[in-house]
Amino acid sequence: MSIGWLDSHVHLMDDSLLLQIDDVIERAKANNIVRIMVIAMTISEIELAIRLKKKYKMIDIAAGFHPVDAHLATENDFQKMEEFIKSGEIAAIGEIGLDYYWDKTHEKIQIDVFRRQIELAIKYDLAVNIHMREATQDVFDIIASYDMQVRGVMHCYSGSLEMAKAFINKGFLISFGGILTFKNANKIVEVAQSIPLDKILIETDGPYLTPHPFRGKTNEPMYVKYVGEKLAEIKEMDIFTLQSQILSNYKSLFKLL
Ligand SMILES: [Zn+2]
Repeated sequence: MSIGWLDSHVHLMDDSLLLQIDDVIERAKANNIVRIMVIAMTISEIELAIRLKKKYKMIDIAAGFHPVDAHLATENDFQKMEEFIKSGEIAAIGEIGLDYYWDKTHEKIQIDVFRRQIELAIKYDLAVNIHMREATQDVFDIIASYDMQVRGVMHCYSGSLEMAKAFINKGFLISFGGILTFKNANKIVEVAQSIPLDKILIETDGPYLTPHPFRGKTNEPMYVKYVGEKLAEIKEMDIFTLQSQILSNYKSLFKLL
């Protein structure tokens, strides 16, 4: 793999990006983005992602039922998901987790679907990509209950340094997104400063959360370089060394070449 930035979490199947996919990939390449992990949240998104991956070698696929849609996942969906995992096309399970901000009515279903997907990840030796909103303690307790059998990444992390360290101790990496570049980002900058380099990933979470100075525009993989450059500034290190380190973190977490 050539050295450059990577985007460890992007919703390329969102219409805002999918309808201009060739341009999105071209702009990513032009900005030295060498690897992209797309998040597929339904069976049809997984099918689409597999087609994209055949066309663009830089794409890896994370597949998972998002907590907000957890109540919609059927038995049939779970079966199909497992078939896709067995086919070897899926690099990670995600995004999965708990979201008590957007969905307060299906708490128990969210927890069941989260656990079931963690167990799939353990069964097939895959890492998980975690979404967590207003549910830190429950997410932590569930992860901790698997007693270090599950590994993964906390996507778009915006929590405390203390919790970041706790997740790292449970075998997790911390992924920073556009929030790191915002002007009022002191708390998250402190997290980035304090945690070890080999525990870090970066992402866009496109089409959401576009980094400064493009806030408000549609986010896409090329913008991950602003997150990376901010991280290099925080860590006081050169770009190339940071890119190599993040690529190496990514490859070892997801067991990719
Ligand atoms: Zn996402």
